[in-house]
Parts: sequence; C-alpha cells; structure tokens
Amino acid sequence: MDVSLDLSGRHALVVGTARAARRIVARYRAGGAVVVLVSAGDACARLGRVAAGTDATPPALVVWVDGRQALREVLAEHASRLRIWFVTEQGAPELPRGQVTLVGGGPGDTDLMTVAGRRALAEADVVLFDRLAPQELMAQWAPGAEFIDVGKTPGHHAVPQGEIESLMVDHALRGNRVVRLKGGDPFVFGRGGEEVLACRRAGVPVTVVPGVTSAISVPAAAGIPVTHRDVSRAFTVISGHTPFTEEELAHLVGLGGTIVVLMGVNTLPHLAAGLQRHGMATDMPLAIIERGYSIAQRTTVTSVGGVTPLLATVAPRSPAVIVIGEVVRVAAWDDGRNAESHDLVRTIADLAP
Ligand code: SAH
Repeated sequence: MDVSLDLSGRHALVVGTARAARRIVARYRAGGAVVVLVSAGDACARLGRVAAGTDATPPALVVWVDGRQALREVLAEHASRLRIWFVTEQGAPELPRGQVTLVGGGPGDTDLMTVAGRRALAEADVVLFDRLAPQELMAQWAPGAEFIDVGKTPGHHAVPQGEIESLMVDHALRGNRVVRLKGGDPFVFGRGGEEVLACRRAGVPVTVVPGVTSAISVPAAAGIPVTHRDVSRAFTVISGHTPFTEEELAHLVGLGGTIVVLMGVNTLPHLAAGLQRHGMATDMPLAIIERGYSIAQRTTVTSVGGVTPLLATVAPRSPAVIVIGEVVRVAAWDDGRNAESHDLVRTIADLAP
C-alpha cells in the first residue's frame, strides 16, 4: 500500500538518534512537517502530556526510527489510543567507529574542498589539521569535532611526524572517527603514505580522500596551464626541500616540459643555477606564485637567468609554487581573479605567446 499524507504544518515526533534519523528528518521536513527529534523515553513523556491535554502542539504522527524496542510497543499503543499515526522507518546504520580518513583539503580556497572531504569532516570526532589545510570554515564543516593543530611552519615541525601518527592512531583506537586534514592532495609531498602505513600497522581502518593539489591549481590560479598543446606535453612536480643532484638536474633539463616546484623558495637560486648548468636556456620563463588562492596571492615572473637579480628586490616567501617552462608565456595574465590583490611583477619584456 502506497499512502501519501499531506504533512504540511503537521507536527511529527521522530524517535531515534540524530545519525540514524538524519535522512528521515530531512524527508519529513521537506514534506512540510514540523519535526521534533526525541529519544524513546522523551516520546513517551510527550504522549503523556498529549493524553493529559497539556500539550500545545500535539503531534499528528510518531515516526519510530530506533530506540529501546520495549518502548516501541508502549509508544505504538499510546499513539493508537490518542489517534496519532504511528510509522516505523528504517534508520541509517550506525557507521563503524574508530577509523582514520586522510582528507586533501585543496590549496586553501574553501570552494576547492571535495564533497567527499566535506562528508568525512561532517562525521568527524577529531580533526588533526595542518598549516596549509583550509581552516576558514573548518569549525562549520566539522561541527562535532575536537580540533588539533599539528601545523608545521617551514623548518619548525610543530608536532613531529611520528607524534602526529600516534595521535591519529590513538584517537581512532579509542573509537573516534579521525580526519587528518591536509593541504592540497595527501599523497603529493604530504606524507600521506606514511600516515596510511601507520594506520595499517595499528590495525586502524584508513581511507584517503584526494584533494586538489597546489602543484596544478596554484599555477592555474595565476593563469598558467601546466601543459599546453605544442608547448609542453609533460610536467614534472618536484620538491625543492633538498637540493637535486647533478644527475637529477641533467634528467630534468633533458626531459623538457614544465617543471613545477613545491617547497622551493629557499633552494630556488641553487635550482636555477643547476638547470642552466645542464643546458636550460637562460631566458626560460619562471613564475613564482605565492599564497595561491588567498587575498594576498602574488605572481612574480622572471626567467631562470633572472632569479638571482630578482631575489635581491623581491623576497618571495613560502608557501609558493614555482613554474619553470614555456607555459608561463601562455598564462592568461588578465585572469581577472581579484585583480587588486595580484601584484604582478613582470621582468620578462614580452610574455605574449
Ligand atoms: N600536499 C600538498 C603539498 C604539500 S608541500 C599539495 O598537494 O598541494 C607544501 C608546499 O605546497 C608549499 O611549500 C608550497 O610549495 C605548496 N603550496 C600548498 N598550498 C599552496 C598555496 N595555497 N599557495 C602556494 N603554494 C602552496
């Protein structure tokens, strides 16, 4: 039997836990009902008040989702005596507890967080977050969570990696849903792989939600495509954290295509000199994009040969993504994104493609 009731303006008493009843509550609300979510015990008390005539807004129906089974019979009988509809609905299963989700938070713009990441945060009990994780709306996205700042500033490991892993595992073993929120993608220089292994070793279920990596998105925020037909058919993402060997530099130059450097501000002079030593053209364009997606985003354009003189006048700071390659010339410099906050320094005379 398929019955549809007009519930607009009717009071509905939904019995169950917030998690189990969430969708059901939403459905009845969408149908126009005025919904109150209560425990089975509170529902009995409420019907008691209805029977006594002291309830100002007697419910038109009681929706049983879950609660103590013994009370279900009592409630159903009570409701029937009061001529209140009694409906039983299948609640959402309780999620398995005690787990870790590594979430890639993207490059900092809240719009670039994934739906899957938002879902993990919505259900999180504990959130361990990094300096580059999108923090702006975190409290809103994870309303039920305790927040732990494990952020590192370059050169200063606020919380050592081993300790972050222990914190993550310990919270999960205590039955919490832990979200490890990182900037960009967890597996791009994010030590996500190590954290997954730490969970596996401890027998903690772990999943990874990829994120929008700064390696591609921060150049894009400055209008630079990392590949471009007939200009670059490869891009290599490297970490500038520790200097490259001569052999690696030779391979980088030999491959051609675009080079994207993360964590590369401090070692940039060394890298630029090394690339030229191995034959990269001195006038190869190079862009430094600092603080991508923030109101203080700044793009500085030079060439590999121009790095040293440039650093004497502009002092780029981390976080920054460096792009080396002909694609820099393709950039749509009039990208229009918050133009006032873009301080575009052009040190190449003609960047037109
Ligand atoms: N997992 C991250 C990278 C972590 S390494 C990702 O996929 O994006 C940290 C480096 O990322 C920074 O030093 C910087 O090079 C880069 N980075 C991350 N967010 C950035 C941003 N909003 N603007 C500029 N650089 C950023």
